[in-house]
This record gives sequence, C-alpha cells and structure tokens, in this order.
Amino acid sequence: MEPNPIQKLSESLKTTRDKLKEIVAHTLSDDKVPLSDILDDLYTANYLIGDIHAIYQKIGEEKQDALKKLIESENWETTQSEYDLKKLRLGVRVFAPNESCKYPKGKHWLCANCFENRQKSILQLQKGISGRVGLSAAFTPFLLCPRCQIKLDIDSEDFQDYNSA
Ligand SMILES: [Zn+2]
Repeated sequence: MEPNPIQKLSESLKTTRDKLKEIVAHTLSDDKVPLSDILDDLYTANYLIGDIHAIYQKIGEEKQDALKKLIESENWETTQSEYDLKKLRLGVRVFAPNESCKYPKGKHWLCANCFENRQKSILQLQKGISGRVGLSAAFTPFLLCPRCQIKLDIDSEDFQDYNSA
C-alpha cells in the first residue's frame, strides 16, 4: 500500500527542518559530523518533497478530468431534457425538440441511435433509394444520419412535415 502522501510530506518537511537546524548548529559549533552527511540527508528529504509535489500534481489533473466529465455529463443532461422521443408514421423513432430546446435551427430531428450514445446528430432529409427491402425502386424519402450513416424510412407525410420547417 502507498504511504499516505500527507504523512510522507510531513516527514520530509520535518527532516528538512531538522537538517537545517543541524546545519546551523554545525556552523555555530565544532561538531565533528561532516557537513556533507547532513546535506545528503537534506537533499533526500527534498527529493521526497519533489515526489509528493508530483503526486499532488497528478491528483490535481485527475480532479480536472473528473470535473470535465461532470460538466460534459451535465451538458448532456440539458440536451437530453430538450428532446422527446417521437414515433414517425412508419414506426421510426427520432428525437424531436420540445419547447425548452434552445437549439436555434428550427425544426430538426436527432438520430435516436446516436442519441443513445450521447451524441447529438441531426438527421438529414433525403430522397432516393434507401435500400428498403420489398419495395419497388421508387424514390422514397428517408432520413440519413451523417454520423452513424443509418437510413430511416419515412413516408411522404413525414417528409412534408420535416420539409415544411
Ligand atoms: Zn446516428
């Protein structure tokens, strides 16, 4: 188990203080202890302080990361509260803005697939062959997610609805 950083720091500071006292005493007396021995101990204590400083810096960075994640998560909470799940006529589900939505672009739907992964991706209205099975190759409207590339079939009413905005 790692020694408690505060305890280590406190011990290092105590050693430093003791060694400084010894240096002063050594200077003032005829002490036979070589000054270099005292200095070595002083340096060791100071290296320990350096280590502690690095540990604290690391803890600080980890706290910053945690704070950043918290802010991102809170931002997402806000985004989430601005959209409601909406079922389109063909059973396709999208996220539609509610009255509290502050996104300025007017009517838009978000990809439910990306929304689940905490990503806001605006579906693009397309008209063409969506790859729907069992239908003739008629040009049908669909929504395309530019992020996950999912294609969502919609009917002409939904198309009008989305297009009219
Ligand atoms: Zn998507």
